Amino acid sequence: MPAKADSRPEISIGYGWDSHEFKSGVPLKIGGVNLAHSKGLGGHSDGDVLLHALTDAVLGAIAAPDIGTLFSPSDERWKGADSALFLAEALRRMKAAGYSIVNLDSTLILLQPKISSYAGEIRQKISELLAISVDRVSVKAKTPEGMGTENAAIAHAVVLLKRAARAPRRAQVKKLSR
Ligand SMILES: [Zn+2]
Repeated sequence: MPAKADSRPEISIGYGWDSHEFKSGVPLKIGGVNLAHSKGLGGHSDGDVLLHALTDAVLGAIAAPDIGTLFSPSDERWKGADSALFLAEALRRMKAAGYSIVNLDSTLILLQPKISSYAGEIRQKISELLAISVDRVSVKAKTPEGMGTENAAIAHAVVLLKRAARAPRRAQVKKLSR
């Protein structure tokens, strides 16, 4: 009997968005990189707005629950947590679903600090966290002209996944047992 056709799409796109308010007395971390600035980003965990948007993009591409559902802001375990943990869990789920990352694009919207001098370092850090080459990682930055969001950092991220050549393990086991 032939194995059931794999219904997973060949490619899958994911999108994530996040915002955090600037707050005094906390370090500023964006894309896993510490930035020199007088304020950091508030909220649960380390407030890494870019890693949160990226985590939601990866989770969205496989139609998994979002970051707030998997890592509730009210859960004490995630207070001050390194957001790289959230991205690692999204990657684990992505691999289990049988996908790998083709590329990602992102945009940060914030007044200060200027991201241009950090963009290379942020791209490098994200490429390491995702274990993909840096030429597949784009980080752009804009200032919030006329938006009235001067005291916030906003991040948008899109990620494209491709289906791995091999079928997911469960399907293979099923096939072998016939
Ligand atoms: Zn967030």
